[in-house]
Amino acid sequence: MSSAAPDLEQITKQFTDFLRRKKFRITQERYRVLDCIAELDRHFNADELYVYMNTKGERVSRATIYSTLDLLTKSNILVRHRFQGESAHFELASRMPNHDHLMCMECGRIVEFRETATDAIRDKVCDELGFKPISHSLQIFAVCTDPTTCSFNRGS
Ligand SMILES: [Zn+2]
Ligand SMILES: [Zn+2]
Repeated sequence: MSSAAPDLEQITKQFTDFLRRKKFRITQERYRVLDCIAELDRHFNADELYVYMNTKGERVSRATIYSTLDLLTKSNILVRHRFQGESAHFELASRMPNHDHLMCMECGRIVEFRETATDAIRDKVCDELGFKPISHSLQIFAVCTDPTTCSFNRGS
């Protein structure tokens, strides 16, 4: 999946503006969480982010991670995905516009794909029902065809 690297400077500014406007405290910890999310540059859930940050030696509590994820979602920097049967997954909104998601129901592996036919379906449905399309989100639920790969990816 080729996606442009996240523009961290712009995203950080967006976050600062949001925190100021809503009168939330501006703490370095919150920015460290955002930095690490940009480094990850993929889907993650709160636990994966916590483990990632701890491995890097960042001293950030789970509570801080949860509250920061909430703020980043409210400020539209993160998109929160609720994949069937999985804990909430997040990704940077800037990565989003050009892909859909396929998820293995067995191991939870999420694969991003680009298929222009989904754009055509979106446009057609909107046109027929009298709407103007803005964006769409398609999730395909499936199982890995190779059980070896599937167990390998479990919990990753
Ligand atoms: Zn995605
Ligand atoms: Zn699988």
